[in-house]
Amino acid sequence: QTNGHPNLPKPAGKPEVIEDRLFINGEFVPSKSGKKFNVINPTTEKLSASVYEADAEDVDIAVQAAKAAFPAWSELNALQRAHFLERWASALEKALPEISYLDAISMGKPAYPDQLAMMIPMIVRYLASKALDVLGESSLNTANFVNLSLRQPYGVCGAITPWNAPSMFLAYKVSAALITGNTIVLKSSEKAPLSPLVAARCAKEAGIPPGVVNIISGFGKPCGEAIARHMDIRKISFTGSAATGRAIQKASAESNLKSVSLELGGKSPLIIFEDADLSKAIPAAAMSIVMNTGQVCNASSRVYVYASIAEEFLEGLKATMALMGKSGDPLAEGTFRGPQADKLQFDRVMAYLDLAKQSGVNIALGGEREGSTGYFIAPTILSNVPEDSRLTKEEIFGPVLIVNTFEEEGDVLEKANASEYGLYASVFTKDISRALRVAKRLEAGSVAVNSTSPTMALDMPFGGWKGSGEGREFSSFALDDWTELKSVYLAI
Ligand code: NAD
Repeated sequence: QTNGHPNLPKPAGKPEVIEDRLFINGEFVPSKSGKKFNVINPTTEKLSASVYEADAEDVDIAVQAAKAAFPAWSELNALQRAHFLERWASALEKALPEISYLDAISMGKPAYPDQLAMMIPMIVRYLASKALDVLGESSLNTANFVNLSLRQPYGVCGAITPWNAPSMFLAYKVSAALITGNTIVLKSSEKAPLSPLVAARCAKEAGIPPGVVNIISGFGKPCGEAIARHMDIRKISFTGSAATGRAIQKASAESNLKSVSLELGGKSPLIIFEDADLSKAIPAAAMSIVMNTGQVCNASSRVYVYASIAEEFLEGLKATMALMGKSGDPLAEGTFRGPQADKLQFDRVMAYLDLAKQSGVNIALGGEREGSTGYFIAPTILSNVPEDSRLTKEEIFGPVLIVNTFEEEGDVLEKANASEYGLYASVFTKDISRALRVAKRLEAGSVAVNSTSPTMALDMPFGGWKGSGEGREFSSFALDDWTELKSVYLAI
């Protein structure tokens, strides 16, 4: 919730040098194989950069560096570690214009304003503020013993991130690992490896000791898989699709049973009751699916609107989505809507639009590619889509909103919950009892009342029920995911 923040960064111009190497043991190094891969600008379809590609050998070198750095790092006290995070946050804050520029030319996120980038230093500072919150407990339960439970770091953690907010997930995972005394090897997404390398440079500028943070670029295979299977990595934190989450869970089970936390996808329902304030519900629904061109894990992508107000809602929604303007160059001031992140992502969304056309679904708005260069897709509304259609069931991860109707609370709850996912849900009503009753019955990790995603707060736990994941991020609860618990029995 950074709307109106006075310091929204402006994108920098093209940096003199775009970092293309891996960040291992405090240094930027080429990959051992010398292999590189291309990052294509989704607006121009031209080459933005080529970066070194890590494979299993590079992963192992990074893990050994993180292992060597662990004893000294974990023995610092938490406030000392917080100090390093504070310095990292300041370096990141200065680098935000560069980060915004690099995200724009790699995955198309509008750079001006870049509200997601604003979150990066805020997240790091929030985690730094949690330094003293990682507590065990003591028990006087037995006369002859004092018992203690201790929270201790795992050691070397692995992290794998997606491309839709490249350095934001990185900021969380690295800060959470570090504040709890772990060291980390993080693989960024092959679609957006550029800004994570700026975050790496900032870690170096902040004086974080070599080996504590290692950031490498590469593909799911072999690099991500090598992290998931590495015997010296004790915990892995993953954000990405459900299919990859399953693969990581399996790789962990087949290697050393590392602790796995998963932040996966969603198909989040938005329920609009007959007493909803449509002047708030309509812009909230539109914003949720158009922001970051629908490439948001908790986007409210399935609307259930009360039948008697459906027409009014739909007409208002169409007008509002149209008002959100034509798509444009993510580097231009005021562009709110950029392209899909890359060709693969574009083709994926277009395949869903083809399916909509073939199956005779009502396309109330959009449904087409925009322009002929760049991976732009018009904001799309599909209405009255069968509940068992793949369009209603699967995460499209584009600016495509399903709008269906209902007439009864029990029925809409059943439909909303009939999903393999459970990341986020929203409800609009003025009836407080109904709001809380429905919030309680929705199967989701977060429920927004009279609001939609991206509403979330750093001090509230974020994560999924069901197929949307395992574990939580943000809030004090989430730090538990980064520590092992140990019971110590002391005879007195
Ligand atoms: P993805 O699963 O394709 O890729 C995510 C990361 O996993 C990338 O770095 C990729 O290289 C890596 N990867 C791919 N195969 C792998 C394997 N076999 N082993 C190890 N790593 C592997 O997802 P994506 O397309 O980058 O991101 C979009 C997805 O992420 C959507 O489903 C979205 O909902 C989800 N997401 C979830 C959250 C959340 O907090 N719940 C946030 C953002 C995105």
